[in-house]
Amino acid sequence: MLVSQMGQVELEGVDEVPLKTGLEWVPEEGVEFKGRSGVDWHGGFCEGMVYDVLAYYKPYTHNRDWGIYYVVPSIANDLERLIETMYHQGINEELIALTVAIYPSLITIHEVCHHTLENVRRLMGLRNIYESHDEGLCEYTAFKLIEGSGIAHPYPLVALLNPLTPMDIHFHGDHIHVITRFGDFVIPFPISIRWRWGVRYPLMVSGGDVRRALTILYKWWGRGNDPIYRPRISNNYTAEFLRNYWLQLRGDLVPFMDHALTNKPVKESLWTKLNTDDKRISIITKCGDKA
Ligand SMILES: [Zn+2]
Repeated sequence: MLVSQMGQVELEGVDEVPLKTGLEWVPEEGVEFKGRSGVDWHGGFCEGMVYDVLAYYKPYTHNRDWGIYYVVPSIANDLERLIETMYHQGINEELIALTVAIYPSLITIHEVCHHTLENVRRLMGLRNIYESHDEGLCEYTAFKLIEGSGIAHPYPLVALLNPLTPMDIHFHGDHIHVITRFGDFVIPFPISIRWRWGVRYPLMVSGGDVRRALTILYKWWGRGNDPIYRPRISNNYTAEFLRNYWLQLRGDLVPFMDHALTNKPVKESLWTKLNTDDKRISIITKCGDKA
């Protein structure tokens, strides 16, 4: 039901690519929020996967069980601490709910970008499928896309938050109930469809609110001074590469239709490849610097 409302992509007539080297997503000024995630960001490419601590992407180039994996214990812990922090700082309920809704969307779009970058590099015949400056591009894309479309992506919201405790998500068609031990929130969904960034998405909330919620997450994750996750586009990309990335991304963002809309080297949809990983410890041991 949701899916049929979502993905319609105009792949032709692209005049301008909204991605250029040096662009950066900057947070909204005047948003009062203090608090830092306990997540130790030490992402990168290791053990044949793109590791982002809260989630990772296993490229099809190196893995048969390719796809996006959410590290559920880490996300649950981080999200719970974030909600508690927002609650104690007097953030209003609507903004808390919106930040919670956007949280998995940011992670998901970031990981989708790694998939898109793999597709682009394979299609362009490039040697590597990952560069460390991809993190900044993926973060820029996630923040910019969510800000521009004014949404939290419903599919990851339902898929990801359902297994999490202590949250309880009830999906009621025109709204979502998020029940936490800090209170109950109602997220209206979807109100209408808005066309932004070349992709149709259900509109959930106004753009200004989204920007405030994104700013909270930006501060929570310390994005402003992170050497690799700061959301900006590295000068290492060429204009041709960014254009290919942009065109590929527009197809890859359409749930369950990405493999039909684009000619990427793999025949399955990324959106059937969303998985959860409950073994946080083993992953940290493998990829972290704390083994
Ligand atoms: Zn990443």
